[in-house]
Amino acid sequence: MAARGRIRYTCPMQVWRRLVWALALVALACGLYQGRRAFVRAIFVDGAGAPAVADAVAPGARVRVVLIDGLGLEPARSLPNLNALCARGLDLEVDAGFPTVSLPVQSVLWTGRTQQQSGVQYRQKAIDPPPADALPALVPGSEAVAESHAFIVRSFGFATARPAPEAETTWSEAAFVDAAEGLAGGDAPLGLVHVLRVDDAGHAHGGASAAYREAAAWSDALLGRLLATDRAAHGEGTRWLVLSDHGHLPEGGHGDAEPALRRVRACLVGGVAPGTAGPVPLASLARALRSGGAPAAAETALPSPGAARWTLAVALLVAGVATGGRRAWLALWLPVALASVVAIAGWPSLSRRFVWPPLGLDVAKAALPGLVLLAAGSWRALRRASAGQVVVAGLAPALALAAAAAALCWGAPPLMPVWTAWTSVALVVAAAASLAVAVALVVPGGRRPR
Ligand SMILES: [Zn+2]
Repeated sequence: MAARGRIRYTCPMQVWRRLVWALALVALACGLYQGRRAFVRAIFVDGAGAPAVADAVAPGARVRVVLIDGLGLEPARSLPNLNALCARGLDLEVDAGFPTVSLPVQSVLWTGRTQQQSGVQYRQKAIDPPPADALPALVPGSEAVAESHAFIVRSFGFATARPAPEAETTWSEAAFVDAAEGLAGGDAPLGLVHVLRVDDAGHAHGGASAAYREAAAWSDALLGRLLATDRAAHGEGTRWLVLSDHGHLPEGGHGDAEPALRRVRACLVGGVAPGTAGPVPLASLARALRSGGAPAAAETALPSPGAARWTLAVALLVAGVATGGRRAWLALWLPVALASVVAIAGWPSLSRRFVWPPLGLDVAKAALPGLVLLAAGSWRALRRASAGQVVVAGLAPALALAAAAAALCWGAPPLMPVWTAWTSVALVVAAAASLAVAVALVVPGGRRPR
């Protein structure tokens, strides 16, 4: 055995073989990096969806919608003007569905089709032309005013949408408030005011920040002015819907299916008996908006992988560990890496920043304890096993995990609560693991010749 150890360390063929394996692993890491970039890009592509059917709508004589972007359920319960309005009608807990992204959620509000039914899932740019069944496109004279990001309201066929693209750079807070009050007191049959500062504050400072609460209080004060303007101009009779599209994590961020992000408050006043209800799916509230009635109770259908995908995912994981054979113990680095990712970076979710960047450095850094274990374990295993055996035992579990997560979210777009984010993380971990084993292969090891 001693002689074999000496040969393994000194034989030039052995050194070359290790170098070739190391280069192959660097190439594998590059391939995983490219694959992950393509995967992330595919998230933003619309799905097929069902065709729009523009049926007859009867929203009522005068409807005003105020959408406070990014306002979570809990902070929405502490706003005095909103509380007073809700007490006059239906105080609802609404489930915005998945993903919790502003334009797709507004698409549900205006079309009555969920993100999965319309295919508008993680879209971040304008829909042009607007969906044929968008309510604002079916109501002549509809108007929208947006505080910012006006491409969102322009995506749904309002007859008038402000600011116009050429006016966006000079659009001030005063101009927005003026336009919003004009809309509240005006004659448009359907009007939307889209408030965005709460979402901006959430992204910049987090949902637990003072800036976020201040933005919410400012929005509530604006709501008070809009209600007063409407009362002065029209008296009673206006139907009001005030709602949010998603909440914010305490540290800021949204997009995945966390209940605290999906569940928002909505208040519907006019044509409904006062009371509380929910959670109701946003699509159900959207149908109530189209018909002038009350939302029907319905189950929210979040996408989920199903039994066949779960079976495949578990089989992949078992196979990934089993291929290590006598060296399957090397797979222990993977649970250590995943535990440290969750402990340091957080539970993977599309709402968290670390799952998105191209290099995934935050994930790789958080996985470092497991990666060091892998490199050390591989280096030690190379004393008794061939480079190929060590590569398989060390890397197959990580590749299997990435394949299993991908199987759970596979589709066009590859969007599934939780598992899309896990696929992104698993691909970073697998790429970093390839490099860790490559390092073990080029560090001199084995039994030193005497
Ligand atoms: Zn946002």
